[in-house]
Amino acid sequence: MCNYVEQEASHFIPSTTFYPSPLSLNALSWLAVAAAGSTLIATGVDVTDGRLDFREYYMNVTFAVRKRANCKGYKVGAVLVADNRIISTGYNGVPEGMTNCLDGGCDRCNQPERFQSGMGYDVCICVHAEENALLSAARFGIRVGNSEMYTTVRPCFSCMKEMHQAGIMAVYFHREWIHPDPGLQSQYRALENRFPGGVKRVDIADPDDPDWVYPKKPAPLAKSP
Ligand SMILES: [Zn+2]
Ligand SMILES: [Zn+2]
Ligand SMILES: [Zn+2]
Repeated sequence: MCNYVEQEASHFIPSTTFYPSPLSLNALSWLAVAAAGSTLIATGVDVTDGRLDFREYYMNVTFAVRKRANCKGYKVGAVLVADNRIISTGYNGVPEGMTNCLDGGCDRCNQPERFQSGMGYDVCICVHAEENALLSAARFGIRVGNSEMYTTVRPCFSCMKEMHQAGIMAVYFHREWIHPDPGLQSQYRALENRFPGGVKRVDIADPDDPDWVYPKKPAPLAKSP
């Protein structure tokens, strides 16, 4: 028996280490609205036999998958689960056979002064963790309909629309994220509401925090001297 505790996300305190530096106060206030409409799940060790509950188990696997990420943005890991079995995994990085992002392989990621975090994904050649989980399943003919996606960061617009269109039932993420344009947030919520099982945050400790942030990236929200 698992000891999930589902509670309103108003208890969630946003991380101050993740958001891009241009993030406006408007965006921050939207985050509070967004959080109030979603569900935060606090998981822990199953008191009945001392084992991790399933959500914590799968989220810890995403942390391990993330170690392979290769992108100048953030390191992200994802795991696709169907019928309580892992059917695919993915981490972010350039397509197979191309120069790695960390070696300058993506022009968009290589120009952070031109493309702020969350922008220019249409010209970014790095495949996101969630996309790679879906695409690996496609490569091997694995059915993804009605499965659940676990990912280390709240998915971007592209991943949300693709997961919805692939028939993903529910999304569980660990780290909050918000698009930098406040004018697009209602559309994001509209996408989010299409998942029958919801889009929920899993509140557990990250064993590699803050190693998932690319070390050369300027510290977000750093105050100017
Ligand atoms: Zn990249
Ligand atoms: Zn890129
Ligand atoms: Zn994405």
